Amino acid sequence: MARIRFEHVEKKYSNGFHAVKDLNLDIQDKEFIVLLGPSGCGKSTTLNMIAGLEDISDGALRFDDEIVNFAPPHRRDVAMVFQSYALYPHKSVFDNIGFGLKMRKVPRDEIERRVREAAGKLEIDHLLDRRPSQLSGGQRQRVALGRAMVREPAAFLMDEPLSNLDAALRISMRAEIKELHRAMQTTFVYVTHDQAEALTLADRIVVMNDGVVQQIGTPDDIYERPKNTFVASFLGNPPINYIDGQIESTDGSTARFRRGDLAFDLPASIAAKLGSSHGREVRLGIRAEDVDETAAGAAGSVIRGKVNSILPVGSDQFLGFDLAGQELFFRVGKDLAHNLGDDVALSVDLNRLHLFDKDSGETLL
Ligand code: ATP
Repeated sequence: MARIRFEHVEKKYSNGFHAVKDLNLDIQDKEFIVLLGPSGCGKSTTLNMIAGLEDISDGALRFDDEIVNFAPPHRRDVAMVFQSYALYPHKSVFDNIGFGLKMRKVPRDEIERRVREAAGKLEIDHLLDRRPSQLSGGQRQRVALGRAMVREPAAFLMDEPLSNLDAALRISMRAEIKELHRAMQTTFVYVTHDQAEALTLADRIVVMNDGVVQQIGTPDDIYERPKNTFVASFLGNPPINYIDGQIESTDGSTARFRRGDLAFDLPASIAAKLGSSHGREVRLGIRAEDVDETAAGAAGSVIRGKVNSILPVGSDQFLGFDLAGQELFFRVGKDLAHNLGDDVALSVDLNRLHLFDKDSGETLL
C-alpha cells in the first residue's frame, strides 16, 4: 500500500461540525503531498482520517484498492509524526525510537539494528542513551522522525512537525525531510499552514479552506496559476495585491483593464482568454514581486502612487504604496531609494497579471 485515495469523503464531528466536505484526492505511491491552509480548514482532520484516528462520516478511503474506512490504526501501515513529537519522557532515545517495534514483538537484535540505522541517518546516534528532556527541539524532532522511520511504513503522515522549531532550524529540517523522502521512497502526507514549507517540500499541494479543497497542483501551478482569490492570497509574501475594475475590449484580440485613471493594456494571450468581455467587473491581481522601477515608463503598464511605508527585509524591501487611497504592497530591490511620501511610478509585468471574476473570485485565465 502506498496509494491513498479519498472518494467523496465527508467528516462531521459528533457535535455536527462539518470539518471536511466532499474530499476527492488521489495520492500516488511515493508522492509528497502537502495539505496547506489556514487554522481550522480541516488539514489535521484529513490526516487523522488516513491514520485511522478519526472516523469517516461518508465516502470511501482506499489504500490501493482496499476500502479502509473501518480499519483500526495499527492495521494501516502508516506512521505519524506529531507537532508535539509525543515522546515518552521517561524512556531513552533508543527506547523511544524502538518502542513501536517492541510492541510488535520484533526480535531484539532486529530492533537494535533498525534503531541504530535510523539514528545514524538522522545523526543522533550519539544521543541514544539520553532522555527527551536532555535534547534540543531539533533533536527531539529527529527522535520522532526516527520512531516513524524504523517502522518502515508504507506512508509517513506528518502534522506540522517543524512548527515548534526556530526559523533557522525549520529551514534546515525542511531540507532533511525532503532528503528523507528521497531516501525512503515512500508516500509522505504533510500538514502545514506555512506556505514556504509547502512550496519547498511538495510534489503536489492541496490547498484547503473551510473543509473544502480549493486547488490541487504542483507548487508551480498553485503559485503561478491560482484557481481563485483564496489560493492567490494564501501564497505570496507580502500577499498579492488586488485592484477592482472593468475590462474594456476594443476587439476580440485586445483588451484593457481600467480603474479610473489606471489602465493596463493586457497582453494578447490574456485578451484571447477573456474573449468578448467588455464591461466585465474583474479583480486584477498583481503579485508583490511583479513590478520593476527600471523599466518605468513603458506605456500601458505603469502604476503610480505614493510611498506609504518602507520595510527592509534584508535583500529586498517591502514598499507600501498608496494608489488613490488603496494600500498596495510591493517587493522591490533594497537599492531602490525612496522616502516616505515620494511619488513613484512602477512598471507592472503584464505577462504575470492575474485576473479573477469580481463576484465569484474564480480565475478568468
Ligand atoms: P490547525 O492548523 O489549527 O490544526 P486544521 O486545519 O488542522 O487546523 P482541524 O484540526 O482539522 O483543522 O479542524 C477542522 C475544524 O474541525 C476546526 O474548526 C475544528 O475546530 C473542528 N474540530 C476539530 N476536532 C473537533 C472535534 N473533536 N469536535 C468538533 N469539532 C472539531
